[in-house]
Amino acid sequence: EINDSFGHEAGDRLIVAVARRMQETLRATDVVARFGGDEFAILQPNVKSNYDAEQLARRLLAALREPFDIGDNQVRVGASIGLAIGPGDSAEVEGLLRCADLALYRAKSSGRNCYMVFNAAMTEQAEQRRTTEQELRLAIERDELVVLYQPIVSIDGKKLMAVEALVRWKHPIRGMVPPSEFIPLAESRGLILPLGEYVLRRACRDACLFPGIRVAVNVSAIQFRHRNFVKMVEQTLAETGLDPTRLELELTEGVVVEDADEAENAMIELRAMGVRLALDDFGTGYSSLIYLRRFAFDKIKIDKSFLDAVETTGESAIIVHSVVHLGRALGLTVTAEGVETHEQHRFLQALGAHELQGFLFSRPAPLEDIIRICENDRQMPPPRPVLADGTQEPGAPIQLPLAGAA
Ligand code: C2E
Ligand code: CA
Ligand code: CA
Repeated sequence: EINDSFGHEAGDRLIVAVARRMQETLRATDVVARFGGDEFAILQPNVKSNYDAEQLARRLLAALREPFDIGDNQVRVGASIGLAIGPGDSAEVEGLLRCADLALYRAKSSGRNCYMVFNAAMTEQAEQRRTTEQELRLAIERDELVVLYQPIVSIDGKKLMAVEALVRWKHPIRGMVPPSEFIPLAESRGLILPLGEYVLRRACRDACLFPGIRVAVNVSAIQFRHRNFVKMVEQTLAETGLDPTRLELELTEGVVVEDADEAENAMIELRAMGVRLALDDFGTGYSSLIYLRRFAFDKIKIDKSFLDAVETTGESAIIVHSVVHLGRALGLTVTAEGVETHEQHRFLQALGAHELQGFLFSRPAPLEDIIRICENDRQMPPPRPVLADGTQEPGAPIQLPLAGAA
């Protein structure tokens, strides 16, 4: 980012400044080396216990969190650290570096700006990740991904308004794998780009078979930040022939938090094409209200966790109430997610939400079910509440999704 914003020379100067600051934090007997790019290795001899190494890691994190003055600019970077301790973890140089690398991976995936100490389970998990990654790569090529569509209905629950595309992985041995198990992996391994493109293309193509309603597609922050994202969407729309105004992209707060200017530009271009933008999982982030004002969203989706809490605490009822009113006041469509019971439905109806989505109306369903509902004048089958034990009342006119779905 610093290279892009201030030029490579500034990037080089930053690397030097980082190295200097590390040196200041170390003892004379410690060794620091730059590995390449923005990666450094530190060799700390005579470590008596994990504690010594962790102590150093904490000092380094604190030192690197302070801003750097690069020319006229002040920048903040931060760091992630992986620790391996020899000879326990490995007596070989290569082995130690590999262990530190696995711990580093873990530090990065648990939110950055922290350190992690290597443990043996990490090797096994890395092995598993590699296998799953290879399988997922093949799955994309072999068309083993399945896209289900969950209805989004009018506030009275009677009419189908839109569907949300939700991906599943039809694994030859493990059966239907839910997205929670492979989306994070795909994100960390660069697979989210082909995966996201696959889902988008499939959803756009399928949507041509159920005219009259919108189709919503989830976009991961990494995917959205990619340079070619807008172009890719434009191309996919052109290739599939889907009317852009029928496509809705669901973005999370993470998209706009990290690089606001870049995100804003992409959003403006997408809206100019006619594509609608929804802010997903509204209320789970921390500064949603600011983003709502700045960014051009058409819609907010109130997260299920709010609805769950409404029944237990009076406070969330007030929050949901305010959010619905705020959304309406800003001229946005307000959709509530995860509606499971008649009580929740009545509550949202009374508040004036616009659209609803949840197991009460339908689980994610195969394409054929959506086509059938559209042919039947978009009439939804009668609602079926989720019971206290998590099961649902019988009488499903819509075929239930495959096992393991949702
Ligand atoms: P999300 O975007 O918040 O999607 C809604 C999730 O809530 C879905 O889970 C849906 O099945 C579930 N859900 C809907 N109504 C109810 C309800 O009444 N009760 C309960 N308990 N759950 C309900 P799913 O399909 O497992 O998806 C999980 C997450 O995976 C999604 O959360 C989304 O963040 C991600 N995801 C799914 N498909 C894709 C995709 O194609 N691309 C990307 N980037 N992410 C995806
Ligand atoms: Ca979503
Ligand atoms: Ca959501």
